Amino acid sequence: MDLGAALADHLEFLGELGVPGLSEDPAWRERPGERTAQAGGTAAGSQDEGAEVASNTAGAELEAVRLELGEDCDRCKLHRLGRRQVVFGVGNPEARLMFVGEAPGRDEDEQGIPFVGRAGQLLTKMIEAMGYRRDEVYIANVIKCRPPENRNPQPDEVFACEPFLFRQVEAIRPAVIVALGTFAAQALLKTQDSISRLRGRVFKYGGARLIPTFHPAYLLRSPERKRDAWEDLKRAKALLEQDGDPSSET
Ligand code: SF4
Repeated sequence: MDLGAALADHLEFLGELGVPGLSEDPAWRERPGERTAQAGGTAAGSQDEGAEVASNTAGAELEAVRLELGEDCDRCKLHRLGRRQVVFGVGNPEARLMFVGEAPGRDEDEQGIPFVGRAGQLLTKMIEAMGYRRDEVYIANVIKCRPPENRNPQPDEVFACEPFLFRQVEAIRPAVIVALGTFAAQALLKTQDSISRLRGRVFKYGGARLIPTFHPAYLLRSPERKRDAWEDLKRAKALLEQDGDPSSET
């Protein structure tokens, strides 16, 4: 795709989200690296010793979770139902913004990275529309192995795998978690409510705020809901940028 086509594609995407035009706000034009402190925690290359220790701790904790889960995990039946590999998570271990999805699909199973297929490309666009880079945030799923035929995760699979998601969150300690779709929201909030009932609100999850929104795969099927999702992401961005008390609930 040439530059003009790429720009047109980007503007079309922003239009679908309901973004009226390019912002005149100077902050919007900051280079992504300058935003690391907002979405990704401490700026890369920081000389701050305390921050570096924190980074190492978060990275080490996350690595410990990865090692305990293992590359050949057989804690649920998905290990023998055609998965190629465990898809742990990707991103900045000290991210202040974390996205949680449902389970790997075919592309994710092949590459070992969450959200790299069509839905993942949409998620990446949405992260960039927020003004962040994908590698500044952290992305994981409730279920780490691909369910056959991309069926919904089953309760025993969620039960076996979700403790590792909870420990990922504990290691990263994000300020804001965006739960993508029903399964992520239900696992994190311990509710049976659908995403349609949950979205549009802000919940507490430990010391973080949790914002449920639609899964990008759903948005591909229902593009008319992209504006709702964009409202949720704007709320997430506002929470990241405020120094407010994370204990209040709306
Ligand atoms: S889905 Fe989770 S619990 Fe099940 S085999 Fe994969 S990594 Fe293990």
